[in-house]
Amino acid sequence: AQQMLISSEKLSTAGQLAASIAHEIRNPITSLKGFLQLLETGIEGKEEYLAIMKDEIEKIEAISTEMLYIAKPSPNEFEQANIISILEDICMLMRSQARMNDIDLVLETDVEIHEIYCDPMQLKQVFINLIKNAIEAMENPGIITIRINTNEILTIEVIDEGPGVPDSLKEKLGQPFFTTKDKGTGLGLMVTLDILQNHHAELSILDREPQGSIFKIDFK
Ligand code: ADP
Ligand code: MG
Repeated sequence: AQQMLISSEKLSTAGQLAASIAHEIRNPITSLKGFLQLLETGIEGKEEYLAIMKDEIEKIEAISTEMLYIAKPSPNEFEQANIISILEDICMLMRSQARMNDIDLVLETDVEIHEIYCDPMQLKQVFINLIKNAIEAMENPGIITIRINTNEILTIEVIDEGPGVPDSLKEKLGQPFFTTKDKGTGLGLMVTLDILQNHHAELSILDREPQGSIFKIDFK
C-alpha cells in the first residue's frame, strides 16, 4: 500500500490560522443573524429555524473547544509512562462509543509494558481523535484495530474498515478546517499533528486492503 506522510509543516502560521478561524465562525454567525431576523418578523415554521440555529451554535461551540487547545495548549507534562496502559485506558473509554455503532475496538500488542517519555494526556487526545475519526468513517459494523509494534521503533496503527481516504484528499488532511463531514470541525488531525510533533513522532496514512485506512504513528 502506498504510504503518505502527513506533514506537520502544514500547520498554519498564527495569522493564516486566525483568518481561517474567523471565516469558519463567521459563516454560522451570519446564518444565525439571518434566522434571528426571520424570527423577528414572526414567520411560520419557528421550530425548524430554531433547530438550524441550534446546529449553528453547536458548530461554533465545537470550533471554540478545539481552538482552546491550540490557543492555550496545556503545559507539557512529560514523564516516563507505559504506552500500553495508556492505550488500554483509551480503548476502554472509546469502546462504548464504538459499540453504539456496532464496532469492536481491538487492541493488539507484542508486549505488555513499553515505557516512553511522553505527555500521557496529550497522547490520549491523539488516540481519541484517531479512533473517533475511524468510528465516524465506518458506515457498517466491523472492527477497529489498534496495533502496537515495538520490534524496531515503536509504531502504533489505528486501522479501520471505512471507505479509506481518496488519494486526492490525502494532501489536505491536517490542514485547519479541512473536513468532509457535515458536523466536522476539521481540527482533529491538526491538533493530532501538533501533539505528535511535540513527541518527535510522525503520522502517515496507508490504504488498508481490501478496504479502509491505517493511520500509523512512528516514534523516532
Ligand atoms: P473532522 O473529523 O472534524 O472532519 P479531522 O481533522 O479529524 O476533522 O479529519 C479531517 C478529515 O479527514 C475528515 O473530515 C475525513 O474526510 C478525513 N479522515 C480522517 N480520518 C479518516 C478515516 N479514518 N477514514 C476516512 N477519512 C478520514
Ligand atoms: Mg476528527
